[in-house]
Amino acid sequence: MRVLVTGGAGFIGSALVRHLVAGRGEEVCTVDKLTYAGNPANLASLEGRANHRFEALDICDAASMRTLVADFAPDALMHLAAESHVDRSIEGPADFVRTNIVGTCTLLEAVREFRASGGRECRFIHVSTDEVYGSLGAKGLFTEDSPYRPNSPYSASKAAADHLARAWCSTYGLPVTVTNCSNNYGPYQFPEKLIPVVILRALDGEPVPVYGDGLQVRDWLHVEDHVRGLAAVLDGGRAGRTYNIGGNCEKTNLDVVRTVLRAVASSRGESADSLLGLIEFVADRPGHDRRYALDATRIAGELGWKPRIGFESGIADTVEWYAANGDWCDASRRIYDGARLGLKEAAGS
Ligand code: NAD
Repeated sequence: MRVLVTGGAGFIGSALVRHLVAGRGEEVCTVDKLTYAGNPANLASLEGRANHRFEALDICDAASMRTLVADFAPDALMHLAAESHVDRSIEGPADFVRTNIVGTCTLLEAVREFRASGGRECRFIHVSTDEVYGSLGAKGLFTEDSPYRPNSPYSASKAAADHLARAWCSTYGLPVTVTNCSNNYGPYQFPEKLIPVVILRALDGEPVPVYGDGLQVRDWLHVEDHVRGLAAVLDGGRAGRTYNIGGNCEKTNLDVVRTVLRAVASSRGESADSLLGLIEFVADRPGHDRRYALDATRIAGELGWKPRIGFESGIADTVEWYAANGDWCDASRRIYDGARLGLKEAAGS
């Protein structure tokens, strides 16, 4: 199979590309603009492989996307490129509108034109988030039929992109499938997201910030389980269908932080007490959703997918990975500090 993956130098995209190229031997072309979140080192293990090529391009560049799709002639385009961090979307939403909405439209159009010019049928797998559904009360789960109620500029831009993908399927007959996944964790996650922040701060003995009361609930999934879910959708997902991909693993943020701190303590043979003392409650994020939880019975029933990696063991392995990859962490933290600085300057603070 020939698969074009956008955002393949990021956290989830690189896990997907490694799986498709090294695990399955597919022909893959990775497209990534290499923003602060994209890191070529995430794909270093694929160097020299004849079945992988990398293109440093912006998905909003219509001419480049048109040429690339016509040239590579993919069987499937798996679209993961995005601005993905909620805090950054609150400080500067314009990049989110550009990449997540305009970029998705640009790719849909490139595939539509390829098809109209007699190119092969190219499936479009649009990778999205559970955050498009908004916030849940104490009970219930989001299904694929739940209404969209996004609350942050990030989730609103992803929701808009999901609607475009759906419309290109209904209006133009493009074989589009949408996936909505819960919170991912695992190796190579950029250190602005909760779990790597906690691991790296704990390793350095620095305070660990927790928003508000820390009782916001998220559903957690190891990135390798997500990748296997995406591969199941690539193999058997139906066009015009949405699949929720969830871990059936609800945790409060405070529970997550404590689990990570205990795993760091255990990896160093220390008692957890001193690390648990690093927790520092900070002002809550505006518009912070209280609870997300997904019903993933459709993908289990139709495609036979289920998560395999338990949360405690997945976290222990993730802690080991960050502890063993100091160079990657240092380089990412330098980029992170630079990106934070740029963001503050852009916001005039
Ligand atoms: P990430 O921020 O780690 O990676 C995003 C990648 O997209 C980066 O490599 C970046 O360089 C690239 N990119 C950004 N703008 C681009 C542009 N204009 N052109 C080309 N490339 C561009 O994000 P992630 O966590 O790996 O998320 C990947 C996808 O999965 C996103 O669409 C996100 O919305 C979705 N998702 C993420 C999670 C999660 O928990 N991380 C959960 C559900 C869904």
